[in-house]
Amino acid sequence: SYLAKCCFPYLTSTDPACKIEVPERLTVSHETLVRTGLADRCVSVPVREATDAEILLAHSEEYLEAVKKTPYMSLEDLMEFTRQYGDVYFHPNIYHCAKLAAGAALQLVDSVMTGKVRNGMALVRPPGHHSMRSAANGFCVFNNVAIAAQYAKQKYGVQRVLIVDWDIHHGQGVQYCFEDDPSVLYFSWHRYEHQKFWPHLRDSDYDIVGKEKGAGFNINVPWNKVGMENGDYLSVFCHVLLPVAYEFCPDLVLVCAGFDSAIGDPEGEMCATPDVFAHLTHLLMNLAGGKLCAVLEGGYNLTSLVQSVCQTVQTLLGDPVPRPASLKSPCISALESLQCVRSAHKAYWSAIMISCLVNTVCALLSCLHDIILIPGSQICSGLALVPDVTKAMTSIVQHVTTVLSNRYNNLDLIKSYTFCSF
Ligand SMILES: [Zn+2]
Repeated sequence: SYLAKCCFPYLTSTDPACKIEVPERLTVSHETLVRTGLADRCVSVPVREATDAEILLAHSEEYLEAVKKTPYMSLEDLMEFTRQYGDVYFHPNIYHCAKLAAGAALQLVDSVMTGKVRNGMALVRPPGHHSMRSAANGFCVFNNVAIAAQYAKQKYGVQRVLIVDWDIHHGQGVQYCFEDDPSVLYFSWHRYEHQKFWPHLRDSDYDIVGKEKGAGFNINVPWNKVGMENGDYLSVFCHVLLPVAYEFCPDLVLVCAGFDSAIGDPEGEMCATPDVFAHLTHLLMNLAGGKLCAVLEGGYNLTSLVQSVCQTVQTLLGDPVPRPASLKSPCISALESLQCVRSAHKAYWSAIMISCLVNTVCALLSCLHDIILIPGSQICSGLALVPDVTKAMTSIVQHVTTVLSNRYNNLDLIKSYTFCSF
């Protein structure tokens, strides 16, 4: 496992809104990795600055040139410069730090792609997933993970990159960078609350699936309530991300590893415990021959952040994952989001289409068990062997629906039943 670290002073101004993005996020994480002996088990690779050409893989020349001037600006000019962007704060050092953060992500990609290490995590500041082609945003200056994905494609000829963004905010910068690109599949779950939560974008909702050739390659899972738990996270992984990820078959997995999705975080207000990240990491390690690069994004409760970082690194090192404690079924709001995402994406992914159809058939069969004598389980396992399974399932659903509507003359009951079953 690889570990990159950039430990820098406060990157931000004295604005109270940025009091949470503090250097201790890195120093305390790193100290704990050392104290627990995890750091000793990692290969530590020195960081470097990303070059202009590398930054331009995800940003415009005008924007790079503008950021380059910030180390020479007076505090007043810096404040003025900052005001044009949303929720980001510039310190005279930030250009240097942002180059190192992006460079660390690239060092990690190099180490993994050349086989020097199997996987790794880059602990960096500033984070990256909110920054856009020509704009800083949400503590982010350069989009570390977007640059890393482009770099892997360009330097190593990687054909398919999966980006998993488990930070609690929507990485809209990553979405915009790849929305028409079918070679990069971007998955993000995020606190949304029907657009009431920052960054309040319509573009973060479940029906924004990508554009043109990239349609289907952008997966947004909006959390419309706070307090989501381990069971909610794991069910979205199992019923949305993993089926699609296996079908996509990535050559490299990048993780926007933000831990503001963990319990106690003032931004996320979710209830998933740090050990859930061991499970999420473990589930992703089976993809891309294990080539996984996690790059730190958010995470503002130091206790939760540090525990989550350790769980992730420990799992990357191959330690057994802890048994999930008190795993509950997903809540109604999570199920609603899950169902919306699945229906928005079933046209693009046969794994989702088939499981939607299987669920529908099972639901219909359970209403119809007195009419059709074949048990649902036999039909489902038998259908997996039928080559054109989608066609077969669709015609079964049509047939059964017709029989049912003739019989009961009321499909509302069936519809509500299908909605609740996955
Ligand atoms: Zn975040």
